[in-house]
Amino acid sequence: MTSHGSTDPVVVAIDGPAGSGKSSVAKGVARVLGLVYLDSGAMYRALTWAVLDQGIDLDDLQSVSEVADRVGPTLAWSTDPDQPTTLIGDLDVSTAIRQAPVTSAVSHVAAVPRVREVLVDCQRRAVSEAQQAGQGIVVEGRDIGSIVLPNADVKIWLIADPLVRAARRAAEDVAAGRTVTTDVEAVAADLARRDTADATRAVSPTTRPVDAFEVDASHLTLQEVIALVANIVSTHTSAQSTQSHVDGVSP
Ligand code: C5P
Repeated sequence: MTSHGSTDPVVVAIDGPAGSGKSSVAKGVARVLGLVYLDSGAMYRALTWAVLDQGIDLDDLQSVSEVADRVGPTLAWSTDPDQPTTLIGDLDVSTAIRQAPVTSAVSHVAAVPRVREVLVDCQRRAVSEAQQAGQGIVVEGRDIGSIVLPNADVKIWLIADPLVRAARRAAEDVAAGRTVTTDVEAVAADLARRDTADATRAVSPTTRPVDAFEVDASHLTLQEVIALVANIVSTHTSAQSTQSHVDGVSP
């Protein structure tokens, strides 16, 4: 049962800036609580990959919008937290969408209104499909708690110190073979560029939902953040509990 007294499976929104650890935390929380998982950023990345693949000028809003209308309906995804995949039709683009050209262009594409309309529909559809299948879901992104799922049962705003985020992202990139160097300052500059673009765009800028729990991951291990968030979710979706505050985080 959820905090709203409904028997619908739980919906958890995790938002925050680039590199705050949303994906690792969201997947970990989904595993711990037996929920499915949706990475909304992967959808923006997949459309960006298609725009680049078709050689479209990023400033040509009409053509980018047409890609959203054409490719959006063919997007498919797995919500298994152990094997999240993103497909365009039959093509698995899960690895390609993590490469540097997509990362550089994605904030530009994500600012296009039609892109957001198409992908917000996909995200809401994924949540209602999970719920119809009787499954709770953790959705991560930038505007999930504010725009996509304003009625989510629990909203988390995950933050971390910029240099901590950059160091973690650089280490992830090396581990995944996306780069051979760990230039933390360059990674920090790239994260800051994306954060500014995402937070200042006209449509659905990244914002902390007013009713979100803020979790600062700067000085916690991944396992500690997962345990903390899972505890917040359990506490706030339990019918027995009326507690509205969990130590160590600010609602
Ligand atoms: O989460 P990730 O860093 O992979 O997201 C890539 C980009 O997708 C973000 O920088 C942002 O521009 C966009 N995005 C968004 N809204 C979301 C999720 C991601 O605009 N809900």
